[in-house]
Amino acid sequence: MSGSSRRGFLREIAAAAARRIPDQPPRGDEPMPNPVPLLSDAELERYSRQLVLPEWNELAQLVVRDASVLVIGAGALGSPVASYLAGAGVGRLGIVDSDVVEVSNLHRQHLHFTPDLGVPKVESAAAKLRFLNPEILVETYQVRVDPTNAAGLVEGQDLVVDCSDSFATRYAVNAACCAAGIELVEGGVAGWSGLVMAVQPGRTACYRCAFPAEPVDALTCAQLGVLGPAAGVIGSLQALEALKLLTGTGTPLTGAFLNVDLATAEFVRVHATRRADCPDCAAL
Ligand SMILES: [Zn+2]
Repeated sequence: MSGSSRRGFLREIAAAAARRIPDQPPRGDEPMPNPVPLLSDAELERYSRQLVLPEWNELAQLVVRDASVLVIGAGALGSPVASYLAGAGVGRLGIVDSDVVEVSNLHRQHLHFTPDLGVPKVESAAAKLRFLNPEILVETYQVRVDPTNAAGLVEGQDLVVDCSDSFATRYAVNAACCAAGIELVEGGVAGWSGLVMAVQPGRTACYRCAFPAEPVDALTCAQLGVLGPAAGVIGSLQALEALKLLTGTGTPLTGAFLNVDLATAEFVRVHATRRADCPDCAAL
């Protein structure tokens, strides 16, 4: 069984087990979801607080351990995303960022500390993530994602979480993920507002379906400002969606995007449908 088909097999079993009502006994000759321990004692202890969730189990943990996830951007969104995915036990975590740590980053990019000033963000982030969870593999790519390298970066990944800060990068990542059939979690934050969207290429609306063109008046974080916790909320939602997509637990935020106004604490789920003329996913 290939790596990807094994992951799919495990994910289906994990999702089926998670759907079972916990206190309901198996019917007839239906097997128990977890007949044998799959994780080491150290893993059982490290992940005990998520394993105790009725929707999570050792198979879900195994799926996460087997997964390769690429986090694009090691900044305000990438910090919470990478931290939570490393903590949750994603076995192979790739971090992409071309920048070095600047003092203006530190109020919201919590993987970087003052002694890291001038250090490439990927190295600063990887050092903290390895401290957080030495059981996982952290890989670094100090490049800026663009249409020429996006396909190569996402190749072989089970999931991509886009924490970049520009429409151009998000479109390049969306196109590459759609072409390769790789699930994607998009996110963005600026000012007091943020957005999160999960994409299953060929099955649900992609980022380009929801946002066909870059807004002409799009402003950047540097222009609009942002508070650290606002980025933390959006990044945390992205990490949650990533874990849901990887394991099949919960209900993913697909076919819609979540528009978050953090000034008023209003969360609005906006329906998004696939577009027949989408350059990225219409042919899938
Ligand atoms: Zn599309």
